Formats: sequence, structure tokens, C-alpha cells
Amino acid sequence: MDNKIKRAHLEKNMVISFEIGKNNFIAFCDFCNKKLNGSIRVSKNNLPYSIKVKDAEFHHKDGNPENDIVENMKLYCRKCHKIVHLWGIIQRWLDKTGKTIEDLPDSRELKPMTYRKY
Ligand SMILES: [Zn+2]
Ligand SMILES: [Zn+2]
Repeated sequence: MDNKIKRAHLEKNMVISFEIGKNNFIAFCDFCNKKLNGSIRVSKNNLPYSIKVKDAEFHHKDGNPENDIVENMKLYCRKCHKIVHLWGIIQRWLDKTGKTIEDLPDSRELKPMTYRKY
């Protein structure tokens, strides 16, 4: 993903503009609102590089990594990013089988999958 798009996304969401040099910032997960610590460096000719957001990942909403536009971007903490992709698997499965959310078994009490070695 292009650094300019990441920068534009952060600036749009946070309603700020980064200055030349190193900027530390706090962003929020677009799903759970968790606080995320980040830093960005902006070069003298105003180009962003070295964008880091701790424990977070940029995500393409439509799943197309080529579609690098701000409207297609989300910033998720690692946990939510995993869940968003997992949810996609479930939604595609529902579409494929013609089932709805109401058809899903209540799995709240289930423990995470464990794998046994044989
Ligand atoms: Zn989150
Ligand atoms: Zn993603």
C-alpha cells in the first residue's frame, strides 16, 4: 500500500496534517476504537515514509490491494483485522449456502479450536 494513501487516510481520520520530520500520533482502530500509537516521517519535499502503527494494519475494504484510494482504506488493530477477514469467510459461506445469520449455531460457549497431535 502506498505511503501517500496511508498518510491521507490518517490525516483525514484524525483531522490533522503531519509536519516535516518525525510525527508521533495516536490513531484509533476503525472497528473497536482502540488507541493505537503510531509514527510517521515526512521528508523535506513533503513525502511520507516510514509509517508505523503499533499492533495495527491497514486494510482494503473491497479486498483489492490494487485499489489504493482513501475511501477503500481502514485501519484496524490486529485483533479486529483478523475478525474482519474471518467475518468475510462466514458471510461468503452464508451467501453460498443461502443461509442467514439466524441459521448460525450459537457458539458463544465454544472454546477456541484446539488441535491434537497424533
Ligand atoms: Zn480493533
Ligand atoms: Zn485486510
